[in-house]
Order: sequence, then C-alpha cells, then structure tokens
Amino acid sequence: MTEQKNDRMYGLGILKGLGLAFRHFLQTYIDDFRHLGKRYKTPEGIAYRSSKDVSGIFTVQYPEEKLPVPEEFRFIPFLVYEEKDGQIEYRCTSCGICAKVCPPQCIWIVRATDPNTGRPIPDPAEFYIDIDICMNCGYCAEYCPFDAIKMDHDYELATYDRKDNVYDKAKLGKPVSYYASIRPVNYQREEKARREAEAQKAARRSIA
Ligand code: SF4
Ligand code: SF4
Repeated sequence: MTEQKNDRMYGLGILKGLGLAFRHFLQTYIDDFRHLGKRYKTPEGIAYRSSKDVSGIFTVQYPEEKLPVPEEFRFIPFLVYEEKDGQIEYRCTSCGICAKVCPPQCIWIVRATDPNTGRPIPDPAEFYIDIDICMNCGYCAEYCPFDAIKMDHDYELATYDRKDNVYDKAKLGKPVSYYASIRPVNYQREEKARREAEAQKAARRSIA
C-alpha cells in the first residue's frame, strides 16, 4: 500500500518537474518577443541577461558576446605598477610572501641587488608565474602586504605553446588604473585605508 502511494507521489513529482522545465522553455519565447531584437547582440541585451530579471533559457553567443564578470571574479594574478613621470614603478618589493603562500608553488621571484654594494634591494629583478599551474585561489593577492599583486578578470589566455604560459614580469605587469577599472570597490577601499594611514603617520610626526 505504502509503496503504491510512494509511486503515485514520485510520479507527481516528475510531472511537476517536467511542467516547470516546460514553463521555462515557453518563457524563453515570451521573453524573446517581449524584448524583440534587443535581447541578443546588444550591450543592453547582455546586461538584461546578466540581471536577476531574466527568465527563460538563453544562449550566450561567445566569443562575440561575453557576460560581464563580477568584481570578485578571479583568474590569473597580475603585478600592479604605478606610472610616475613616464616611469613604471612596480609596487612589488620582492618580499616573497606570495611565493611562500602559493599552494601549488607556481611563483618564482628573483630579488634585485644594488649594483654597487651587491646587497638585495626591495625590487623584483625577475618575477614569474606559471599560469598552467596557478589554481586561481587568490592567496597571493590576499597575503601581499603592498597591494602589489591582484587577481585579473582576463580569462582568454589560450596559447599553442606551453612555454608561453610562464608569464614574466613584463607580461604580468599592469597599471594601477587597470586595477581600479576592474575592481573599483576594492581599489577605493584600499586607497581610503592608505590615505588614513598616511594622515595618522603625518599626525604622529607633527606631535614628535
Ligand atoms: S607581490 Fe607582494 S607578496 Fe609577492 S613578493 Fe611582491 S610585495 Fe611580496
Ligand atoms: S592565485 Fe593561488 S595558485 Fe595562483 S599564483 Fe596566486 S597563490 Fe598561487
């Protein structure tokens, strides 16, 4: 008796599930007609399909179309540099913390040395990341004390040659303006914290 009842219940569940899938399927056409000509291949269409209001089933015509990624999306890390008087200045001090915390150990850094004294200086002479090994965890960016390494949004990195996937310092470097453009909320928060820390330092100096 109980088995028959369960069968009936299970059968109803399947029908309900199919009904739901069918409703979504129909909704696709309703949505297409509602946004006639605007749902596909337009920036507004992509914005709509990325929104919570979207209904029905849709196809993203990649690579012609790309859904925008959220700010916290992370792919391969990049090195942030400042542009001062036409010169590039990497924020990295070659402290090596990122290389230490990287779980698959895919970061290699060579610290620069002073040509006169031979002593190490806080600047990376070389910086490599093997992007085939990187697991996109973001630990390097989380632990860097200088906001010098950040996670990129660019995911179109396919190459034909394995050697091209070991990125050097030049390939990893991107200006701070790029960082601000892909992660505006994070950038503003860090800049605010930096300004506050500088103001506190200045206040301590004036008291001393
Ligand atoms: S990226 Fe950051 S953590 Fe890594 S070596 Fe440079 S300063 Fe240190
Ligand atoms: S994202 Fe993770 S795996 Fe990739 S370099 Fe940074 S710490 Fe290593």
